[in-house]
Amino acid sequence: MSHNLNFLRSKISPKSELIGVIKANAYGHGDVKIAKHLEKLGLNKLAVASTNEGKKLRENGIKCDLIVFYPDTSELSDIIKFSLEPAIYSKRILTELINKLKKLELNNFPIHLNFNTGLNRLGFQKKEIDWIIENLSDSYVKIKSVYSHLSSSEEKRNNIFSNTQIKVFNQIKDVFSELDKKIKYHLLNSSGVYNYPECQYDWVRAGISLYGYSNNPEWDKTLIPVAELRTKIIQIHQLEKNQVVGYNNGWIAKKKTIIATIPIGHADGIGRYFGNSNAAVWIKNKKAKIIGNICMDMFMVDITNIDCSEGDGVIIFNKKHPANKFAELGGTISYELLSSIGSRIIRTYLQ
Ligand SMILES: *Cc1c(COP(=O)(O)O)cnc(C)c1O
Repeated sequence: MSHNLNFLRSKISPKSELIGVIKANAYGHGDVKIAKHLEKLGLNKLAVASTNEGKKLRENGIKCDLIVFYPDTSELSDIIKFSLEPAIYSKRILTELINKLKKLELNNFPIHLNFNTGLNRLGFQKKEIDWIIENLSDSYVKIKSVYSHLSSSEEKRNNIFSNTQIKVFNQIKDVFSELDKKIKYHLLNSSGVYNYPECQYDWVRAGISLYGYSNNPEWDKTLIPVAELRTKIIQIHQLEKNQVVGYNNGWIAKKKTIIATIPIGHADGIGRYFGNSNAAVWIKNKKAKIIGNICMDMFMVDITNIDCSEGDGVIIFNKKHPANKFAELGGTISYELLSSIGSRIIRTYLQ
């Protein structure tokens, strides 16, 4: 992770700071541990998706600035109580926050304004700027940053969607810069750092690259996957021709076959889409295809051609067999695979 952070820093202009994104349990890696490590590595701004995630980090001693990207109006008391910094994305949530702060007689509460410049997910529209400025005049809140999110930062430069978003974001930035010189601006996620270096503004928000992935084969070569997911063969069976494997007889042996049962299943984040020979795991450095349907707690692999025994190690992904490659075999992406790794998987940290 330190290597990945240094690599990211080498790609970021010295004028721009990095926000470490540790939402979704730090992309499955364990939010408290990762937050503490990133604080130690010198980050003073971290971001999560939900208020609950921020609350948990505060309760576990995380002191740095904590941005909450997607708070709900019902959570604003906790946002205030735990000194979280909400991203404000609509008139409704801004109004509710100001009302709360008024009642509590709090001033200058730090917020981040999220603008929708084309992703059409969450955020104020540019045309709402006048309303925002009018409603901020009484200083209950203080705008710490203004930001937006690209829809296609993974695409190479000069695609029309990103160019339009960048143009609109610059217009928004011009208005707020007139208002207050101290406001910070940010637009990029990990992929953006590589593909749109000229749009790094004051901050960038990096998640996936901290964990060793970039959505780009070239950068992937330099980044190091942080997590290894491993387990052990729990049982081996010898099958005769025509015997079946797993629920709904998902797989039928065409010949004598040796199979191994692997004790990790869809409740652990290995979704059903990995079943039925779509994906393979690694045993003794050899590929073992997943056969039949993935169960909640287990799946089975064909080990006919692998010399292995019960108790032998099984690699699902690691540095050599990265999570994005395994994810691809199930038709998904590193983000989904990593963040889905369930809570009963034991996280062990090597430092
Ligand atoms: C998750 C998220 C990021 C991080 O994106 P990566 O592609 O993981 O770097 C950045 N900004 C926002 C608003 C996010 O929700």
